[in-house]
Amino acid sequence: MIKDKVVIITGASSGIGEATTKLLARKGAKVVLGARREDNLKALAEVIGRDGGQAVYQVLDVTNPAENKAIVKLAKETFGRVDAIFLNAGLMPSSPVSALKTDEWEQMVDVNIKGVLHGVAAVMPEFSAQKSGHILATSSVAGLKAYPNGAVYGGTKWFVRNFMEVLRMESAMEGTNIRTATIYPAAINTELLDTITDKGASDAMRGLYAKFGISPDRIADIVAFALDLPEDTTVNEFTVGPASQP
Ligand code: NDP
Repeated sequence: MIKDKVVIITGASSGIGEATTKLLARKGAKVVLGARREDNLKALAEVIGRDGGQAVYQVLDVTNPAENKAIVKLAKETFGRVDAIFLNAGLMPSSPVSALKTDEWEQMVDVNIKGVLHGVAAVMPEFSAQKSGHILATSSVAGLKAYPNGAVYGGTKWFVRNFMEVLRMESAMEGTNIRTATIYPAAINTELLDTITDKGASDAMRGLYAKFGISPDRIADIVAFALDLPEDTTVNEFTVGPASQP
């Protein structure tokens, strides 16, 4: 059951993370919000508090290992334990390889890959010690299938898929009972496209999302479903998107 679970959410300041944070809080989870935009986190935590929920936040750059450790510490100090972490922070500055946007390649590797690794490294000692814990991560349909303009973005999301599946297997083999859930969204209307600087890639994506995009609340529903499963059960992968998107 979600009620009273302590859940850390990265990328909570907008889009999928924000929608998920709101839903989990409404269902009685104690939520710990992380992202870089403090104003958004503060406003969200205040709304949750006003509605009778429990939320704390911390400015978090997921590329910084110490800040990942600090948010786990905040969760423990505030609520006494950590039950789950939703590794959701990410960005998608898509472009063709030939554009050689090497700074953006680095940024995607740092946030989408290393950000997940730092989050896992920060929370694993807690989960291993308590022999339970739930690690959820946002990959993408671009982590299942190759798309033009997505050589690096898709690559980072393929990484998430592999990492999460191996983590699940090893946790089962080691008897730590740490569950994983990897979510592969298709077109979801958020601020994600704002990170695209390549005009061709931006136009293509904006056309696609204008036609098919659905609410981030649909991903929040899936995260809530995963967190509601009984302790002895895991659903490891969810591909979720607009019914109309081919
Ligand atoms: P948004 O741009 O709305 O949200 C991205 C979130 O990531 C923001 O909260 C942002 O917060 C946070 N973030 C970015 N960089 C960092 C960082 N260095 N440290 C901490 N937080 C960071 O887009 P979405 O909600 O769509 O994106 C959420 C996840 O979903 C991403 O991993 C994305 O790749 C994935 N996804 C989205 C799809 C879609 O169609 N929208 C499809 C498939 C996957 P801040 O700027 O405040 O730090």
